[in-house]
Amino acid sequence: MERETGWIDTHAHLADEAFSDRLEDVLLRAMAEGVTRILCVGVDTVASASSVLFANQYDGVRVPSVWASVGIHPNYAHQEKPGDWESIVAWTNHSHDGGSRVCALGETGLDRYWDDCPFEVQEKNFARHWELSRSTGLPVIIHSRDCDTEMLEALRKEYKNGELRGVMHSFSSTLEVALECVAMGLYISFSGMLTYKKNEVLREVAAKIPEDRLLVETDCPYLSPEPKRSTRPNEPSLMVHTGEVLGKVRGWTVAETAERTTANALRLFSKMR
Ligand SMILES: [Zn+2]
Repeated sequence: MERETGWIDTHAHLADEAFSDRLEDVLLRAMAEGVTRILCVGVDTVASASSVLFANQYDGVRVPSVWASVGIHPNYAHQEKPGDWESIVAWTNHSHDGGSRVCALGETGLDRYWDDCPFEVQEKNFARHWELSRSTGLPVIIHSRDCDTEMLEALRKEYKNGELRGVMHSFSSTLEVALECVAMGLYISFSGMLTYKKNEVLREVAAKIPEDRLLVETDCPYLSPEPKRSTRPNEPSLMVHTGEVLGKVRGWTVAETAERTTANALRLFSKMR
Protein backbone atom coordinates (compact mmCIF):
# COMPACT_ATOMS: atom_id res chain seq x y z
CA MET A 1 0.00 0.00 0.00
CA GLU A 2 1.19 3.48 -0.83
CA ARG A 3 2.19 5.56 2.17
CA GLU A 4 0.47 8.86 2.80
CA THR A 5 2.04 11.85 4.47
CA GLY A 6 -0.86 14.32 4.66
CA TRP A 7 -2.96 14.92 7.75
CA ILE A 8 -6.59 13.94 8.29
CA ASP A 9 -8.66 16.22 10.53
CA THR A 10 -10.98 13.56 11.94
CA HIS A 11 -13.37 16.00 13.63
CA ALA A 12 -14.41 19.37 12.19
CA HIS A 13 -17.74 21.18 12.46
CA LEU A 14 -17.60 22.81 9.05
CA ALA A 15 -21.37 23.41 9.15
CA ASP A 16 -20.94 25.73 12.13
CA GLU A 17 -21.97 29.31 11.42
CA ALA A 18 -18.41 30.41 12.29
CA PHE A 19 -17.45 29.14 8.80
CA SER A 20 -20.50 30.19 6.80
CA ASP A 21 -18.81 33.18 5.15
CA ARG A 22 -15.33 31.68 4.74
CA LEU A 23 -15.49 27.93 4.08
CA GLU A 24 -13.58 28.01 0.77
CA ASP A 25 -10.71 30.00 2.34
CA VAL A 26 -10.63 27.68 5.34
CA LEU A 27 -10.38 24.64 3.05
CA LEU A 28 -7.65 26.22 0.90
CA ARG A 29 -5.58 27.04 4.00
CA ALA A 30 -6.01 23.46 5.24
CA MET A 31 -4.75 22.13 1.90
CA ALA A 32 -1.74 24.48 2.09
CA GLU A 33 -0.85 23.00 5.52
CA GLY A 34 -0.99 19.44 4.21
CA VAL A 35 -4.46 18.47 5.45
CA THR A 36 -5.70 16.13 2.73
CA ARG A 37 -9.01 14.99 4.22
CA ILE A 38 -11.52 16.41 6.68
CA LEU A 39 -14.28 14.51 8.46
CA CYS A 40 -17.18 16.93 8.80
CA VAL A 41 -19.19 15.96 11.87
CA GLY A 42 -22.94 16.38 12.42
CA VAL A 43 -24.62 17.20 15.73
CA ASP A 44 -28.26 17.14 14.57
CA THR A 45 -30.12 16.59 11.30
CA VAL A 46 -29.45 20.13 10.04
CA ALA A 47 -25.67 19.88 10.55
CA SER A 48 -25.69 16.26 9.29
CA ALA A 49 -27.42 17.38 6.08
CA SER A 50 -24.74 20.06 5.63
CA SER A 51 -22.01 17.48 6.22
CA VAL A 52 -23.42 15.26 3.47
CA LEU A 53 -23.73 18.27 1.18
CA PHE A 54 -20.15 19.47 1.79
CA ALA A 55 -18.83 15.93 1.38
CA ASN A 56 -20.46 15.66 -2.03
CA GLN A 57 -19.32 19.15 -3.00
CA TYR A 58 -15.65 19.03 -1.90
CA ASP A 59 -14.09 15.96 -3.41
CA GLY A 60 -10.44 16.85 -3.02
CA VAL A 61 -9.57 18.49 -6.33
CA ARG A 62 -8.35 21.91 -5.15
CA VAL A 63 -9.15 21.52 -1.47
CA PRO A 64 -9.03 18.62 1.04
CA SER A 65 -11.64 15.97 0.38
CA VAL A 66 -14.49 16.29 2.85
CA TRP A 67 -16.26 13.25 4.33
CA ALA A 68 -19.43 13.17 6.38
CA SER A 69 -20.49 11.87 9.76
CA VAL A 70 -24.21 11.91 10.60
CA GLY A 71 -25.83 11.67 14.01
CA ILE A 72 -27.38 13.38 17.01
CA HIS A 73 -25.27 14.96 19.79
CA PRO A 74 -26.33 14.24 23.41
CA ASN A 75 -26.99 17.94 24.04
CA TYR A 76 -29.48 18.08 21.16
CA ALA A 77 -31.21 14.71 21.58
CA HIS A 78 -34.21 16.26 23.36
CA GLN A 79 -34.85 18.66 20.46
CA GLU A 80 -35.42 15.87 17.98
CA LYS A 81 -38.41 16.19 15.68
CA PRO A 82 -40.44 13.35 14.13
CA GLY A 83 -38.55 11.95 11.16
CA ASP A 84 -35.11 13.16 12.29
CA TRP A 85 -33.75 9.73 13.18
CA GLU A 86 -35.17 8.28 9.96
CA SER A 87 -33.15 10.90 8.07
CA ILE A 88 -29.95 9.82 9.84
CA VAL A 89 -30.66 6.17 8.99
CA ALA A 90 -31.45 7.07 5.36
CA TRP A 91 -28.09 8.84 4.91
CA THR A 92 -26.27 5.76 6.17
CA ASN A 93 -28.26 3.44 3.90
CA HIS A 94 -27.21 5.62 1.04
CA SER A 95 -23.58 4.87 1.94
CA HIS A 96 -24.07 1.28 0.74
CA ASP A 97 -24.59 2.27 -2.90
CA GLY A 98 -21.14 3.77 -3.33
CA GLY A 99 -22.44 7.23 -4.08
CA SER A 100 -22.36 8.67 -0.60
CA ARG A 101 -19.46 9.93 1.42
CA VAL A 102 -20.94 9.14 4.83
CA CYS A 103 -18.20 7.26 6.69
CA ALA A 104 -19.17 7.57 10.39
CA LEU A 105 -22.00 8.07 12.88
CA GLY A 106 -22.16 10.92 15.36
CA GLU A 107 -21.07 12.76 17.10
CA THR A 108 -23.09 11.23 19.86
CA GLY A 109 -22.49 10.09 23.42
CA LEU A 110 -23.14 11.31 26.96
CA ASP A 111 -22.72 14.69 28.64
CA ARG A 112 -23.08 15.55 32.34
CA TYR A 113 -21.56 19.03 31.98
CA TRP A 114 -24.51 20.65 30.26
CA ASP A 115 -27.87 19.59 31.66
CA ASP A 116 -30.02 20.62 28.69
CA CYS A 117 -31.04 17.09 27.81
CA PRO A 118 -32.37 14.50 30.32
CA PHE A 119 -29.76 11.77 30.83
CA GLU A 120 -32.16 8.90 29.97
CA VAL A 121 -32.82 10.57 26.62
CA GLN A 122 -29.05 10.78 26.02
CA GLU A 123 -28.60 7.10 26.90
CA LYS A 124 -31.33 5.98 24.51
CA ASN A 125 -29.94 8.21 21.77
CA PHE A 126 -26.41 6.81 22.29
CA ALA A 127 -27.64 3.19 22.27
CA ARG A 128 -29.46 3.51 18.93
CA HIS A 129 -26.29 4.86 17.28
CA TRP A 130 -24.58 1.62 18.35
CA GLU A 131 -27.41 -0.43 16.95
CA LEU A 132 -27.02 1.46 13.66
CA SER A 133 -23.24 0.97 13.83
CA ARG A 134 -23.73 -2.79 14.07
CA SER A 135 -26.14 -2.90 11.15
CA THR A 136 -24.13 -0.59 8.85
CA GLY A 137 -20.54 -1.28 9.95
CA LEU A 138 -19.97 2.48 10.36
CA PRO A 139 -17.81 3.62 13.31
CA VAL A 140 -19.25 5.86 16.06
CA ILE A 141 -17.72 9.25 17.00
CA ILE A 142 -18.13 9.46 20.77
CA HIS A 143 -18.52 12.63 22.84
CA SER A 144 -18.01 12.11 26.59
CA ARG A 145 -18.00 14.95 29.08
CA ASP A 146 -17.93 14.70 32.88
CA CYS A 147 -19.36 11.18 32.90
CA ASP A 148 -16.54 8.59 32.80
CA THR A 149 -18.44 6.10 34.96
CA GLU A 150 -21.67 6.27 32.96
CA MET A 151 -19.77 6.21 29.65
CA LEU A 152 -17.76 3.11 30.55
CA GLU A 153 -20.95 1.39 31.76
CA ALA A 154 -22.70 2.17 28.47
CA LEU A 155 -19.70 1.01 26.41
CA ARG A 156 -19.34 -2.24 28.39
CA LYS A 157 -23.00 -2.95 27.73
CA GLU A 158 -22.54 -2.42 23.98
CA TYR A 159 -19.32 -4.43 24.00
CA LYS A 160 -21.36 -7.50 24.96
CA ASN A 161 -22.59 -7.42 21.35
CA GLY A 162 -19.03 -7.54 20.02
CA GLU A 163 -15.96 -5.37 19.46
CA LEU A 164 -16.77 -1.65 19.26
CA ARG A 165 -15.90 0.41 16.18
CA GLY A 166 -15.44 4.05 17.02
CA VAL A 167 -13.38 6.83 18.54
CA MET A 168 -13.34 8.72 21.84
CA HIS A 169 -13.14 12.18 20.32
CA SER A 170 -11.27 15.15 21.85
CA PHE A 171 -10.12 12.82 24.60
CA SER A 172 -9.51 14.47 27.97
CA SER A 173 -9.83 11.71 30.57
CA THR A 174 -7.43 9.32 32.30
CA LEU A 175 -5.09 6.63 30.96
CA GLU A 176 -7.19 4.01 32.73
CA VAL A 177 -10.33 5.10 30.85
CA ALA A 178 -8.42 5.31 27.57
CA LEU A 179 -6.96 1.83 27.87
CA GLU A 180 -10.32 0.25 28.71
CA CYS A 181 -11.77 1.95 25.62
CA VAL A 182 -8.87 0.66 23.52
CA ALA A 183 -9.42 -2.85 24.90
CA MET A 184 -13.04 -2.69 23.69
CA GLY A 185 -11.83 -1.78 20.17
CA LEU A 186 -11.97 2.02 20.23
CA TYR A 187 -9.53 4.65 18.97
CA ILE A 188 -8.46 7.73 20.97
CA SER A 189 -8.43 11.15 19.29
CA PHE A 190 -6.59 14.23 20.57
CA SER A 191 -7.61 17.83 19.85
CA GLY A 192 -5.93 21.17 20.58
CA MET A 193 -6.33 20.44 24.31
CA LEU A 194 -3.21 18.29 23.94
CA THR A 195 -1.17 21.45 23.34
CA TYR A 196 -2.31 23.44 26.39
CA LYS A 197 0.40 24.20 28.91
CA LYS A 198 -1.54 22.89 31.91
CA ASN A 199 -2.39 19.56 30.24
CA GLU A 200 0.85 17.72 31.06
CA VAL A 201 -1.20 14.76 32.30
CA LEU A 202 -3.05 14.48 28.98
CA ARG A 203 0.28 14.39 27.12
CA GLU A 204 1.37 11.55 29.41
CA VAL A 205 -1.79 9.70 28.43
CA ALA A 206 -1.10 10.32 24.72
CA ALA A 207 2.40 8.89 25.16
CA LYS A 208 0.96 5.56 26.33
CA ILE A 209 -1.86 4.80 23.88
CA PRO A 210 -1.06 1.95 21.46
CA GLU A 211 0.27 3.67 18.34
CA ASP A 212 -2.24 2.05 16.00
CA ARG A 213 -5.16 3.65 17.90
CA LEU A 214 -4.12 7.31 17.86
CA LEU A 215 -6.01 9.98 15.91
CA VAL A 216 -5.81 13.78 15.69
CA GLU A 217 -8.56 16.32 15.20
CA THR A 218 -9.34 20.02 15.57
CA ASP A 219 -12.95 19.90 16.88
CA CYS A 220 -13.08 23.29 15.17
CA PRO A 221 -14.45 25.95 15.53
CA TYR A 222 -13.56 25.18 19.18
CA LEU A 223 -10.29 24.39 20.99
CA SER A 224 -7.67 26.32 18.97
CA PRO A 225 -4.25 24.76 19.68
CA GLU A 226 -1.18 26.51 21.05
CA PRO A 227 0.52 28.67 19.80
CA LYS A 228 -2.67 29.86 18.04
CA ARG A 229 -4.94 29.49 21.04
CA SER A 230 -6.31 33.02 20.72
CA THR A 231 -7.23 32.48 17.04
CA ARG A 232 -11.00 32.33 16.54
CA PRO A 233 -12.46 30.27 15.00
CA ASN A 234 -10.16 27.26 15.15
CA GLU A 235 -9.88 25.62 11.70
CA PRO A 236 -8.42 22.47 10.08
CA SER A 237 -5.18 24.21 8.97
CA LEU A 238 -4.23 24.61 12.67
CA MET A 239 -4.34 20.86 13.32
CA VAL A 240 -0.69 20.63 12.40
CA HIS A 241 0.19 22.16 15.80
CA THR A 242 -1.61 19.38 17.65
CA GLY A 243 0.11 16.84 15.40
CA GLU A 244 3.51 18.33 16.25
CA VAL A 245 2.87 18.05 19.99
CA LEU A 246 1.70 14.46 19.58
CA GLY A 247 4.88 13.71 17.65
CA LYS A 248 6.97 15.24 20.42
CA VAL A 249 5.39 13.13 23.17
CA ARG A 250 5.78 9.98 21.04
CA GLY A 251 9.31 10.70 19.87
CA TRP A 252 8.20 10.78 16.23
CA THR A 253 9.03 13.23 13.45
CA VAL A 254 6.19 15.35 12.12
CA ALA A 255 6.13 13.21 8.94
CA GLU A 256 5.95 9.98 10.95
CA THR A 257 3.13 11.41 13.07
CA ALA A 258 1.13 12.41 9.99
CA GLU A 259 1.74 9.06 8.33
CA ARG A 260 0.73 6.99 11.38
CA THR A 261 -2.36 8.97 12.37
CA THR A 262 -3.50 9.04 8.74
CA ALA A 263 -3.11 5.27 8.41
CA ASN A 264 -5.12 4.87 11.63
CA ALA A 265 -7.90 7.19 10.41
CA LEU A 266 -8.18 5.34 7.09
CA ARG A 267 -8.40 2.01 8.95
CA LEU A 268 -11.19 3.24 11.25
CA PHE A 269 -13.10 5.31 8.67
CA SER A 270 -12.69 2.66 6.03
CA LYS A 271 -15.08 4.28 3.55
CA MET A 272 -12.67 7.24 3.24
CA ARG A 273 -10.42 6.96 0.24
ZN1 LIG B 1 -17.38 18.00 18.06
